[in-house]
Amino acid sequence: MSELSNDLILFNELVAVLLKEEENHPVAKRIDSNVLYDTIDLSLQKAAIVDDVFKKTLKDVLISTPKTATNLFFNQLFGGRQSKAILGDLLAVLLNNSMYTYKVAGPQVGIEQEIIRQSCKLVGYGAQSNGTFPTGGSMSNYMALIMARDAKDPSCRTKGMTKPLVMYTSKESHYSNAKNASFAGMGRGQVRYIESDDRGRMLPGKLEEQIKRDLENGLVPAYVNATAGTTVLGAFDPIDKIANLTEKYNIWLHVDGAYCGSVIFSDEKRHLLKGVERSDSFSYNAHKMLGTPLTCSIILVNDKKHLHDSFSNDAEYLYQTDGDDFNLGKTSFQCGRRNDALKFWTLWKSMGTDGLENIVDQQFYLADIARNYVANNPDYTLYSFEDSISVCFNYKNIDPKTLCTLLYEHQITVVGFGDFKGESFIRFVTINATNTEADILNFFKVLEAFVKENESALLLAPEKVK
Ligand SMILES: *Cc1c(COP(=O)(O)O)cnc(C)c1O
Repeated sequence: MSELSNDLILFNELVAVLLKEEENHPVAKRIDSNVLYDTIDLSLQKAAIVDDVFKKTLKDVLISTPKTATNLFFNQLFGGRQSKAILGDLLAVLLNNSMYTYKVAGPQVGIEQEIIRQSCKLVGYGAQSNGTFPTGGSMSNYMALIMARDAKDPSCRTKGMTKPLVMYTSKESHYSNAKNASFAGMGRGQVRYIESDDRGRMLPGKLEEQIKRDLENGLVPAYVNATAGTTVLGAFDPIDKIANLTEKYNIWLHVDGAYCGSVIFSDEKRHLLKGVERSDSFSYNAHKMLGTPLTCSIILVNDKKHLHDSFSNDAEYLYQTDGDDFNLGKTSFQCGRRNDALKFWTLWKSMGTDGLENIVDQQFYLADIARNYVANNPDYTLYSFEDSISVCFNYKNIDPKTLCTLLYEHQITVVGFGDFKGESFIRFVTINATNTEADILNFFKVLEAFVKENESALLLAPEKVK
């Protein structure tokens, strides 16, 4: 038997161990970072090791790695497993193509383009639209910013920036915006953080005031980042109203839908993106709402000319056959590029667009259950609103940071905390569509039981946990 066949048998054995472990211990036993290297043998040695030791080490690593697919993981903007997507990703690893040329990726190019075409249709972009799969949502935002910069200051590509460009985003937007301004040569100081309303949505009036101030000062407004699903509250910026301004002042509009842009698949929730077809670019992460393995991020561009203008470069040693439409390296940031499309395609192909819609709708349904539970229980304070899958709350005046940390350290459940306008709270994310109503109610049950057991410690000594 080949080495690969043997290793696949080992793989299946390890999968069985992992799934059993997830059932018995949905929250992994935490290894304190101070003793990590003393607890598992992670060392690399000169000599090969025997198979049994290798296997045991792998099991140790699997068992103690945080479990993101179980029904007690609510910490991140991803979670759970979509089996058909995992199948696709495993195949992508075996195939090991690179997505830059048709010569090397063949039908995988068509798979990626089909996802992009169908996504553009759902967004409402026209015949000139296209897109690519960047390494993640941060990179999608970066690519959008670079296209905006080059569109406003075309000689930038050869001479470097010649104009004092400014960009706009809400105070609640993703932190990649600040870094990207620095990478793009604009500078973090040129990011204008626009205030949001009491539900975390950017205020278009404040945006216009700031644009006018910058114009008066001789600056050049180049880019507006609107967010579809803010990182803490899951709020949707009013794209239509923002588009009125970006069209009026000729500014690039990017819609960052990394978190919740997948509502394009839901007939019921698509209205949250009203006006998105007027944007210049739109991105979403299938590894968030749609549950594919990390990472699976897609950026769509209303006019593909901008992708070519900013990212193509001739390279004779690479592009040797077929046209530009099949050589995807002409519109990507990097050269060698992992196949992130196949896992999304196997998911979409197997369950249809209707299946993706169900995945999205399930998350809003679970959020409604959580929000109702919180709203109808006097021990809780609710900070969230409808149409958000981030349910933010506090329980019995307990410091949310202390509570989250203790829940994690005691392997009860994994959940995070956030801030909005000076308030801190627990942020419970219903992004795992494989969860049921019972899983959501169970989360509150285990939280309440834990608090009951530790109430005095939680109420009296919040500073004990740092
Ligand atoms: C998660 C997220 C990002 C970053 O995406 P990565 O794939 O983690 O880089 C950007 N914007 C928003 C709104 C997000 O929620």
